[in-house]
Amino acid sequence: MTFPDYFPYTHRPGQAEMVRLVRDCVHDGRHLVVEAGTGTGKTVTALCAALEGTANSGRKVIFLTRTKSQQRQIALEARAIADKADVVCIAIQGRGPATCPMMQNDRELVSGTSEELSKLCATLKKGGTEAGTCSFFDNLDDAAVEACISFVRSSHPDPEEFREFCSVRGICPYEAAKRVLPYANVVSAPYPFFFIPGIRTHFLEWMGIGERDAVVIMDEAHNLPNYLRDIQTYRMTQRALDLTMKEADENKDPEIYEGLTVKDAVTLVQDVLRDALEQFLRRDNDLIPPGYLSEEMMTRLGMTTYGIRDMLMSMYTVGEAVADEKKRRRKLPRSHILTLARFLLAWISCGEGSHVYLVAGGDNPYLEAYCLDASDAADPLLSCLSTVSMSGTLRPLDV
Ligand code: SF4
Repeated sequence: MTFPDYFPYTHRPGQAEMVRLVRDCVHDGRHLVVEAGTGTGKTVTALCAALEGTANSGRKVIFLTRTKSQQRQIALEARAIADKADVVCIAIQGRGPATCPMMQNDRELVSGTSEELSKLCATLKKGGTEAGTCSFFDNLDDAAVEACISFVRSSHPDPEEFREFCSVRGICPYEAAKRVLPYANVVSAPYPFFFIPGIRTHFLEWMGIGERDAVVIMDEAHNLPNYLRDIQTYRMTQRALDLTMKEADENKDPEIYEGLTVKDAVTLVQDVLRDALEQFLRRDNDLIPPGYLSEEMMTRLGMTTYGIRDMLMSMYTVGEAVADEKKRRRKLPRSHILTLARFLLAWISCGEGSHVYLVAGGDNPYLEAYCLDASDAADPLLSCLSTVSMSGTLRPLDV
């Protein structure tokens, strides 16, 4: 087995075999699971083999990561082979203090979720509202984008160096990285960019490729099942319900369904939580019957499933309006009403086979639909040209 000419280090045992496996996997459009311990050089080996397999094809090698240090390592490996190989590598990260300079000095915005910041960002980029604009976006003109592309091509920066480059020019590193994506053949991104459906659609669009043009590599892939379970587990705490009640008060307790108001709905969920604690809790947390919350809502409100769904959709709309109003004032577009509506809609949509339902006690009791089987959420991997899942601890292999 020959190594790619640009393999930058002395070969170690096992790497030749891995090069062959990854090459064949990319060539044949298959999926590969690799178990290899820490220090075996699997990141650089997979990168070199995948680059060779995608050369001159317009396809991209996408590393999905859980940590920023993994993204840095990928950037450093790309730099190590860049003298001899055609590699343009960019790391994209979600909006946060490191990537959104607009929020860096704003205590409220720093606590925002990625989705909340994304909504506010979209409003500022559009401009024309009371919220104003974002100067870091406005400064990102064609010349600045060209400068970013040249910098990435010539200097192969790690994520920190790219942010520094943007900071000096007063431009947004998040938006700048997005503009570099179409020119990159190696991209590293956190899991949500690929596993949250709405974000994946945009991510592929920004890169200018379809799923079949993606060779996805995941290092530390044993983290994936837990991540997928987390994003499909839904929890509502007593404290969150209290905040929802407060928000309803601040917004004149809007009606959501035939005389029912937001506060009526919150009171109902608080009552159901209290009753579930009394009836089912014997330990720290205990199972409740799958239909418990939905049936209690129907019985206590005298409504059908359709009525409950209509009521929740109306609550969702109210929550969105609350968030939009905050956005208009350049505030974090957070709505606890929206969060509760989402939780309840998700709860009534969960399948019995995929989730179990829990009540938990303590100083902040909660109801939870805990995801047991998150395999559906991994399906997008199967649409890619090929995937390489690597870990030192991939056991059991049927995760
Ligand atoms: S354009 Fe960039 S700096 Fe401005 S709000 Fe959006 S992410 Fe933040």
